[in-house]
Amino acid sequence: MESSSSSNCMIWFRKGLRIHDNPALELAQKGSKHLFPVFVLDPYYIDPDSLASSPGSSRAGINRIQFLLESLVDLDCGLRRLESRLLVLKGEPVQVIARLLKDWNIGKLFFEFDTEPYAQTRDNKVKDIASASGIEVFSPVSHTLFDPAEVIRKNGGKAPLTYKSFVAIAGKPSAPLRSMYSKLPPIGDIAGYEILGVPSIHDLGYKDVKQEFSPFRGGETEALKRLKENLVNKKWVAEFEKPKGDPSEFIKPATTVLSPYLKFGCLSSRYFFQCVDDAYKTVKKHTQPPVSLAGQLLWRDFFYTVAFGTPNFDRMQGNKICKQIPWRDDEKLFVAWRDAQTGYPWIDAIMIQLKKWGWMHHLARHSVACFLTRGDLFIHWEKGRDVFERLLIDSDWAINNGNWLWLSCSSFFYQYHRIYSPISFGKKYDPSGNFIRHFLPVLKDMPKEYIYEPWTAPLSIQRQANCIIGRDYPKPVVPHDLASKECKRQIGAAYALNLSGETADAEEKLNSLRRKLEEDDYDGIQNMKQKKRMSK
Ligand code: FAD
Repeated sequence: MESSSSSNCMIWFRKGLRIHDNPALELAQKGSKHLFPVFVLDPYYIDPDSLASSPGSSRAGINRIQFLLESLVDLDCGLRRLESRLLVLKGEPVQVIARLLKDWNIGKLFFEFDTEPYAQTRDNKVKDIASASGIEVFSPVSHTLFDPAEVIRKNGGKAPLTYKSFVAIAGKPSAPLRSMYSKLPPIGDIAGYEILGVPSIHDLGYKDVKQEFSPFRGGETEALKRLKENLVNKKWVAEFEKPKGDPSEFIKPATTVLSPYLKFGCLSSRYFFQCVDDAYKTVKKHTQPPVSLAGQLLWRDFFYTVAFGTPNFDRMQGNKICKQIPWRDDEKLFVAWRDAQTGYPWIDAIMIQLKKWGWMHHLARHSVACFLTRGDLFIHWEKGRDVFERLLIDSDWAINNGNWLWLSCSSFFYQYHRIYSPISFGKKYDPSGNFIRHFLPVLKDMPKEYIYEPWTAPLSIQRQANCIIGRDYPKPVVPHDLASKECKRQIGAAYALNLSGETADAEEKLNSLRRKLEEDDYDGIQNMKQKKRMSK
């Protein structure tokens, strides 16, 4: 006879907030008499932080927390349609799960495999606790198209470091599961636990949130709807070509905006990939990776694989694939960038879009990441990464770090002389500056001739536009031409030194390079001043 514990199963949702193509759910519902679907709200991610630079917790902006809650509500509805429900609890996840396993007499535990370092530590602790009590644990890979560990194994134990080699090794993704459920096993005895519904943002302690919320709503239902709407235009799918596409389009963004749904697993990347593949079959020709839509999903998996196989992927020090660069520590400039006060409207409007929407087009992300790091301010990519990590609704550990490494010319991409102009790049797409006018209303009446460089507008024009530069909107924090030249000089010197992130005295050598560059800089400024004096 089967014991009650062996027929009591738990599915622990974290990401993977969906019913479709969900191998953990598929395994869990088979052969269980009772199935407990659980989500644990982790205070580390959701507790309000009154000291943070914008509403939210210390780890997540308010938009992403809201997106998560909406996704949970939708998952709960999906489960209720199958005569089950989501059991939402709050607390330190390892402790909560350990208690539930015992109190609910669970025999088998199911959850999606997660490659992020925080999740790995958490999950390993849970696995140890479960194993010690004889509970079986199943943890299938379903957040990505491929199993990163398997790709690394196939590549001789190392992560492939180029997209091309990754695609060659990974091959074709497997098909998504097609299971349709009419009913899930009932929830068993919850042993007196008081389970409330999914809390609202106010219930979590966010009382006076006045900010505009992201226009993108969370959840599997919205994800599948958005996927369908994007794929209905087969010509668009067939011709999709990154990096073409207009980063300033915001009423109807130029790309799918499916990233937040992939981040939380409201949408399966395998299902997305298969739908794109099906669309390709209906047209004569289509674009190819790396620029195609399917190619974008392969980028996602590429970064997941490299991140999983690279110790210290999220930092410069100790990261063997990261160039060591003597970034400058300048809190004032960093805050100006973070708070959309650089004086460059294209940059500031994008940073406001980040704050208000939690999403920006890929090339918009390029612009601000380049500006902060190798383009203008020469500030550490880790500082920009932290801001994105907190505020993006699609914030994703592997992809975010991978792209910051890329954009700062710290890894993957090394053409540091190719810099995005904070003036002409945006103008190319949106000469009238509609994007800027929308996100920076202080400049809404600035004539289009000056909208990208308002400091060049004559005072009379500034007055007419109700925007005096230096009073209503800042002057540029650095002169772009000089700043970008200086950045190139400094990166050039760091590249020449060619320090590895794993070298024991890398930090010391980097500090000495920093001092030398500052001295050269000082000499340069003195020479310039002297020349100026002489020319007077
Ligand atoms: P689409 O163009 O419609 O692409 C479909 C999917 O492919 C995306 O949803 C995403 O999952 C994947 N994808 C697209 N571009 C990339 C890419 N360059 N790298 C990896 N996967 C990609 N994306 C995130 O999902 N989370 C992040 O935290 C993140 N941080 C970034 C930080 C910087 C500095 C930069 C330059 C880019 C970052 N990206 C990040 C990558 C990219 O900008 C977004 O994935 C994309 O803009 C999301 O919009 P979309 O869904 O409309 O993309």
